Amino acid sequence: MRVAVLGAGVVGVTSAWFLSRAGYQVSVIERQPASAMETSFANGGQISVSQAEPWANPDALHKIIKWLGREDAPLLFRLQKDPQQWLWGLRFLRECTHARHTRNLRHLVNLGLFSRAMLQDLRQQLDLQYQQQQQGILQLHSDPREYQNACKAAAIMAEQGCQRIELSLQQATQIEPALAHSVLPLCGAIYSPDDESGDAHQFTQALTGYAQRAGVSFLFGQHIKRINYSHNAISHIEIEDEQGQIQIIKADAYVMAAGSYSPLLLRTIGIHLPIYPAKGYSLTIPLRDEDIAPLISITDESHKLVFSRLGDRLRVAGTAELAGYNTEINTQRCAAIHARCRSLFPRLIGQAAPQAWAGLRPATPNNMPFIGRSRYRNLYLNTGHGTLGWTQSCGSAAALAQIMTGKTPEIDFPFLCAAD
Ligand SMILES: Cc1cc2nc3c(=O)[nH]c(=O)nc-3n(C[C@H](O)[C@H](O)[C@H](O)COP(=O)(O)OP(=O)(O)OC[C@H]3O[C@@H](n4cnc5c(N)ncnc54)[C@H](O)[C@@H]3O)c2cc1C
Repeated sequence: MRVAVLGAGVVGVTSAWFLSRAGYQVSVIERQPASAMETSFANGGQISVSQAEPWANPDALHKIIKWLGREDAPLLFRLQKDPQQWLWGLRFLRECTHARHTRNLRHLVNLGLFSRAMLQDLRQQLDLQYQQQQQGILQLHSDPREYQNACKAAAIMAEQGCQRIELSLQQATQIEPALAHSVLPLCGAIYSPDDESGDAHQFTQALTGYAQRAGVSFLFGQHIKRINYSHNAISHIEIEDEQGQIQIIKADAYVMAAGSYSPLLLRTIGIHLPIYPAKGYSLTIPLRDEDIAPLISITDESHKLVFSRLGDRLRVAGTAELAGYNTEINTQRCAAIHARCRSLFPRLIGQAAPQAWAGLRPATPNNMPFIGRSRYRNLYLNTGHGTLGWTQSCGSAAALAQIMTGKTPEIDFPFLCAAD
């Protein structure tokens, strides 16, 4: 049976891998010249089950209003004349109740735990090198009220098997000595020893190599122009290369994994997914021997920034801006990230200029991705992973392969059956 995977980000490539292992003949269609060149290119690097808390929570509205119009805000709504943005915003508000927040959190922890286990399994089978670190994630807090809420969420996560340990600042500094020089007024930390970090781009490219050797074909530089259907099934897709040559691709099944662009492609066949691009930034700082930089992955919760050590580089990433499909670099937002980094790690001088990057998270109002069958009988979705696509990629792909082979994934998560 032939499957065409649409998109070669971390989600598309892991889908291709797990489908190929399940016996499918897989091709992957990607407009870029290689895998993981868009949102999976320079993300925060965290494999963070512990960061499963959805953006939509009972405190979110208060914070968003406080941050409106502030260029250094961690989460910034730039209101557009775009009905999709407004609709997304209303759905986001609906998810902010205590009950929905708790339900979403539980599902996201389940998916994260499953996914981390699938990644670890994959590492046992393949020699994947992506600057991985298995030293846990340290979440830092500077607001006592937020810290209290985070401890409550940590207790819910712990019930499900995601170990999280409350730490004093002194204990946190013992785990990550680079924090000893911080000039920030921190009030507490939560440590998740089982979390990991690593370079999603390197991982996806390495897995692409293994997939190619296992027989998966990658069609790079091919833009998906049109999805065609007949009755309740996809009949074929049209792709176009850089020279304008159009080709028809026919498969028995199709997997939509085009990240933030999935809703644009799906809209043309009547599927309306609430996925909106949430732009984020990262800075990659080359390190010198004299730099005192963290080894353990860190989340600065008040500024929604994550820090991951990727060999001789430090990746700092975060902030979210809902402003449509735009990946321009806003120097003010990058300067705010750099300033926060310097306050947390003042002994990190960094000789060369940090490399700035922006990407579009495929964000859903409740942070839950769409995984499973669509209302077209041969079209499957694996998209909308928002802030945690790297963390959730292996689990989402493994679960999708199980669904496509008629099995039921063994985790409590609302997978799609045939819904829109
Ligand atoms: C600043 C930032 C920090 C982040 N930090 C983390 C983190 O620490 N941990 C974590 O788990 N997640 C993190 N994320 C989220 C994570 O990066 C994303 O969820 C993930 O990369 C999404 O992967 P994807 O494969 O769905 O999308 P993408 O990587 O965008 O892949 C989609 C692919 O589809 C292709 N495509 C789209 N349209 C077409 C078309 N018409 N024709 C052909 N090809 C097409 C694109 O070229 C692209 O390669 C972060 C994101 C950002 C922006």
